[in-house]
Amino acid sequence: MNLILMGLPGAGKGTQAEKIKEKYNIPHISTGDMFRLAIKEGTDLGKKAKEFMDQGALVPDEVTIGIVRERLMKDDCKNGFLLDGFPRTIAQAKSLEQLLTELNESINSVLHVDVPKEKLVERLSGRRICPTCGTAYHVEFNPPKVEGICDKDGTPLTQRDDDKPETVKNRLAVNIEQMQPLLDFYQDKGHLVRVNGDQDINDVFQEIRSKLENESL
Ligand SMILES: [Zn+2]
Repeated sequence: MNLILMGLPGAGKGTQAEKIKEKYNIPHISTGDMFRLAIKEGTDLGKKAKEFMDQGALVPDEVTIGIVRERLMKDDCKNGFLLDGFPRTIAQAKSLEQLLTELNESINSVLHVDVPKEKLVERLSGRRICPTCGTAYHVEFNPPKVEGICDKDGTPLTQRDDDKPETVKNRLAVNIEQMQPLLDFYQDKGHLVRVNGDQDINDVFQEIRSKLENESL
């Protein structure tokens, strides 16, 4: 089962990734983890990637795809894999196809955890911080006992600039612009599976399961 997971920040991708990993016994491969592992193992590609990262530069695609190749060839990928955060561009998506063909593999499904933008703005802008003790709350998912007040020390909670709706909207717009061409690409290939992410976490996973199991029939 070779899967790619896509979704905007706040869509709950991480939670679903954990559930998919457990249920189907495939590794959850996020870009960050993949780079960290290559660097830790000191592979040639890991060393190259580190040079770019140390300079604060983007790691070039040929290095990234090489690291993906090394990762997908590891034993734990024999049942499949769940890629998360890669590919990020059409060029990378095409390189991935080429790589999988070489490995005699292919993508089965690209899961898109879809949540309306307005809902994401609500989720992402709901964070509140206590300026005294640093405790984080969420107005919906983790509210303080008294609205707007820290449970621990009674300080009025504040909102970080990063969490203000306007900032969140801009961040989402950038992400949408980056993700949309990939969704179109995989739609054209017939791999795209849309999952409604605007429901209870367990219902999202239920939908993923039933859609994946239908696909494989
Ligand atoms: Zn506090």
